[in-house]
Amino acid sequence: MSEGPAKKEDRRKFQAIKGVRDILPPASALWNRVEQAARDVFESYNFADIRLPIFEDTALFSRSIGLETDIVMKETFTFDDKPPDLPRPNSFTDPEDYTAAIEHALKTDQIPHTAENQIILDGLKYHLSDLRNAIEKSDFEAEETARAKWTASANDLRFGQPLTLRPEATASVCRAYIEHGMHTLPGNVKLYYIGPMFRRERPQKGRYRQFYQIGAEVLGPSDAPAIDAELIEMLVAFFDRAGLAQTHLFVNSIGCKDCRPKYVDLLRAELQKVKDKLGPDSQRRIDTNPLRVLDSKLPEEQPIIEKLPRIADHLCDACKQHFAALKDELALRGIAYEINWRLVRGLDYYTRTTFEVTAAGLGSQNAVCGGGRYDGLVELLGGPPTKGIGFAIGTDRVILALEDAGKGQPKPRVDVFLAWMGAAAYAPAVSLARRLRREGFAVELPPEEMKFKKSLGLADKLGAAFALILGEDEVASGQLTLKRLSDGSQQKLAEPELLAYLKSNLRDTRA
Ligand code: AMP
Repeated sequence: MSEGPAKKEDRRKFQAIKGVRDILPPASALWNRVEQAARDVFESYNFADIRLPIFEDTALFSRSIGLETDIVMKETFTFDDKPPDLPRPNSFTDPEDYTAAIEHALKTDQIPHTAENQIILDGLKYHLSDLRNAIEKSDFEAEETARAKWTASANDLRFGQPLTLRPEATASVCRAYIEHGMHTLPGNVKLYYIGPMFRRERPQKGRYRQFYQIGAEVLGPSDAPAIDAELIEMLVAFFDRAGLAQTHLFVNSIGCKDCRPKYVDLLRAELQKVKDKLGPDSQRRIDTNPLRVLDSKLPEEQPIIEKLPRIADHLCDACKQHFAALKDELALRGIAYEINWRLVRGLDYYTRTTFEVTAAGLGSQNAVCGGGRYDGLVELLGGPPTKGIGFAIGTDRVILALEDAGKGQPKPRVDVFLAWMGAAAYAPAVSLARRLRREGFAVELPPEEMKFKKSLGLADKLGAAFALILGEDEVASGQLTLKRLSDGSQQKLAEPELLAYLKSNLRDTRA
């Protein structure tokens, strides 16, 4: 039976969701080039690729990134894993039986045994006892209230494990480091990753909901400043290899768990004194996260912020020494940088060294990389005491900056368009195409026979460097006609000469 015409709404065109995008050729070739530059440079510093899952236990991010940050408060994509075979309560549900079933399911881990679910179960029992009392006293009003409260609580239960699409990868790297006992590996563990991240941000140019990062992390027993400096050197080498000029490196130290809280208290006290002169966002941050006030871009707040106490003047001796040694190490490597005392980074887990790279041509979203030290994060996630430092490069923005600088990729190149004509030429064309491809040439082989003129027209439109003409005569003589499409010149060659000729003539473009 025919399904009949689809309803109008079923025939609507689909579009990518706002804030996510397709990366099409030829831009995708530039992406590949940038990612390959990262692989080459990072591997020359002995970093190895780690491939991580796209989603993780929600608690991994709330514990590491911090509940008070924007990322975890409102920007993650979180969903429940598949619920078990327990229906949601309805008007026929017996609260006694259902509460008992929930208790059993929690005990046997059919429902995730989270603190929230335990609190909800306690609430269910509480409302259940109110319900029993009301029934005993035949108080219908109280019975109805208790039943409504019980139902509302039961609907708050999280049946599946809460999962979150990763908003960043450092927490996942640390989770993997702990899970696989990587602290027993010799020396520092040096890892890099490449892949998409997800944040529910307001989309704009250079800010997407699915965006891509290239990141690297060093985990291990040592926090020697040379590690920080070498990581920064590697980052600078990457931007160089990727061809991104006009980058600017900012460096700072934000202290450790001993000296930073004292500085934050001082900052908060000073901010309280100027509270009325600040905008609503900064006013709110005085209580929640005063360091974030330093990130403010509001012009009217700038003169106030410039007069605030600076962390460099409040570092403990150990942090002061670490920062001084980092500067020496950067000088040793000839790395140009600027100290930015306001570079505090949004996330709770950073300690000591922080850094950021900005690039020209990106407008307000000009940060192409953020990084810093996070000693203590592995421990916070249940692992052994471990030092850590890393960075994340925003690939989307690197690409935008390269395109802005006119370094976009030309169309992918077809080396040879194999124009075959006549049924007898088809089988030889298929095997010749395979031999050419094995030699590394990009070959386009028309799947159906085409008229000579049409065939060459398509070769031209595809931007092929050469058309190789293979008709029945060529098959019989073993002499192929090679046409250079840029000037129309033609020559006849046997296959071995053809290969040699193509190799020497395409060498520059395929290097
Ligand atoms: P973060 O993980 O927030 O330190 O970000 C590191 C880098 O990732 C930033 O410097 C940006 O280049 C990039 N980035 C962060 N969020 C986004 C986003 N929503 N869209 C595009 N790039 C982003």
